[in-house]
Amino acid sequence: MSDLMKGKRGLIMGVANDHSIAWGIAKAVAEQGAELAFSYQGEAFGRRVKPLADSVGAKLLLPCDVEDIETVDTMFDAIKSEWGGLDFLVHAIGFSDKNELKGLYADTSRENFVRSMVISCFSFTEVAKRAAALMDDKGSMVTLTYGGATRSMPNYNVMGVAKAGLEASVRYLAADYGPRNIRVNAISAGPVRTLAGAGIGDARAMLNWQQRNSPLRRTITIDDVGGSALYLLSDLSSGVTGEIHFVDAGYNSTSMPAIEQLKK
Ligand code: NAD
Repeated sequence: MSDLMKGKRGLIMGVANDHSIAWGIAKAVAEQGAELAFSYQGEAFGRRVKPLADSVGAKLLLPCDVEDIETVDTMFDAIKSEWGGLDFLVHAIGFSDKNELKGLYADTSRENFVRSMVISCFSFTEVAKRAAALMDDKGSMVTLTYGGATRSMPNYNVMGVAKAGLEASVRYLAADYGPRNIRVNAISAGPVRTLAGAGIGDARAMLNWQQRNSPLRRTITIDDVGGSALYLLSDLSSGVTGEIHFVDAGYNSTSMPAIEQLKK
């Protein structure tokens, strides 16, 4: 262990199990000395998150469903009374009805559009505002997005629209909080096999495509994301804000599939 995050306290939102991207981030920052609080959505997830939180010495484990703003406020009140302040925030939360993560985007229902937007996009603005209120003269926030925000991807549908809004939120929040030295960035992760990832239609095909066609010829791991998040949450990235940082084995940088794939 070294001490890149020593003395920093952070809230990790979005751990469902040990496959979660948020868990990859939690491990990376805990290894560098960060003190962590975890939120969980509902008791069933709470039972899974507890041993993970214990394993990195986290004492604060707080229920929070971002659809219920009272639970968000209660969570931040608890952090304020336990810690008095906050140094960083990880928001790794997304949801859409999986029946609409297949087929045509045009068939998205109004109800699921609004729900996906509230949970996957606006929740970041709501928690960022509360987190910033606990940050003194410095802080860092990271949320998770996907390449489907800027280019259409089969089946990603309304989540792509929500992630586009999330990425714009990152830039606006960076502008809002920059004068207070609070930085706001996103990691655009390549496809990873997680609970949320499995809800997207033909998820396995997306993973295979990425593996065959990204410059690194592989999919990414939650530890890949953890390393990049460590950079964004630590002082190593002190001059970086409002960025969408790709951790996708280079996939976004290419304009066509690998030639060897075309010849198959
Ligand atoms: P995951 O299922 O492990 O995590 C998703 C988390 O969102 C869960 O912890 C769940 O409890 C939480 N959540 C959903 N609705 C919530 C609500 N109403 N209130 C509070 N929490 C809620 O999956 P993951 O892939 O680790 O997802 C984390 C983030 O990464 C999401 O924003 C996702 O869109 C993004 N992402 C995932 C991939 C991928 O391929 N898995 C790629 C790029 C970005």
